[in-house]
Amino acid sequence: ANRAALPDFDGAGALADGRSVPLLANVGSGTDAVAAAEAGAEGVGLLRTEFCFLGRDKEPTHEEQVEAYRAVFDAFPGRKVVVRTLDAGADKPLPFLTDDTEPNPALGVRGYRTDGATPGVLARQLAAIAEAAENSRADVWTMAPMISTPAEAERFAGLCAAAGLRTPGVMVEVPSAAVLAGQILQRVDFASIGTNDLTQYTMAADRQLGALAELNDPWQPAVLHLIKATADGGRAAGGATSEGSATTGAKPVGVCGEAAADPALAVVLVGLGVATLSMNRRALPAVAAILRTVDLAEAQRLAGLALAAPSAAEAKELVRAELLELE
Ligand code: PEP
Ligand code: MG
Repeated sequence: ANRAALPDFDGAGALADGRSVPLLANVGSGTDAVAAAEAGAEGVGLLRTEFCFLGRDKEPTHEEQVEAYRAVFDAFPGRKVVVRTLDAGADKPLPFLTDDTEPNPALGVRGYRTDGATPGVLARQLAAIAEAAENSRADVWTMAPMISTPAEAERFAGLCAAAGLRTPGVMVEVPSAAVLAGQILQRVDFASIGTNDLTQYTMAADRQLGALAELNDPWQPAVLHLIKATADGGRAAGGATSEGSATTGAKPVGVCGEAAADPALAVVLVGLGVATLSMNRRALPAVAAILRTVDLAEAQRLAGLALAAPSAAEAKELVRAELLELE
């Protein structure tokens, strides 16, 4: 597509039938957040808090953390900001949290798991997020990376509640979490699928190895099936509440991995049941433009084609060819 020909993103993602698909930004700092707001992002779908403190050999102080988070919240008054707790380890080492002698860091003590090895850091981070949220106008949601089991999700929700944070969620980036998404979403309010890691772990292909790029592709139908399982889990968990009421709507499931920035794949994700997409701000105009060309039934049909394809290459080719015809 010709980038220059795209209209500016006007700040409201929607399908051709008017159905809204909020388009959010992935950010790593206050400066990033300001740029994302200027680009029209409807909120932040992923604040990578470890990016605020990369390379530090000491835990950031409470004041440093509050200041860093508040800078992001202030860029989005009245909007949703999803804060991810520190995702240290593997491709994102934080010397104060990670052990660089592990034999397989991607399968090691990383993300939420560091709370077992280094207790206290997570609770202190949640306290800092809560303080920054209290004094801001942003709608702050908080999620943990690398959640693998319903028990971990439940414990994280408890830590959020203890810190006074109202909307706890988890990232789904480990296949076990996608398989049990229904159970996990009974314990938290939302999920955000990290397709970068979900692809790496589903395909057993290191995301940092260029030689495995063909396997490491979120168009892999196996990955798409797990994304669908997660969205289905959100619907199942939304329908069954503890009050025993009738359907209350789905627990929201979004995508915040690179997959959301690929316009044709964004259509497929919506067709699989994903409600929001979060991406690098530069991808917003192209994704917004393609979503406006399809209605939900069309997106679901294309998702069906991709799910049934025998390879990532064929899934991609089929969907892209159909989208060109629709234009
Ligand atoms: C992901 O894994 O898709 C994700 C969004 O998190 P990160 O890329 O920071 O691991
Ligand atoms: Mg990840």
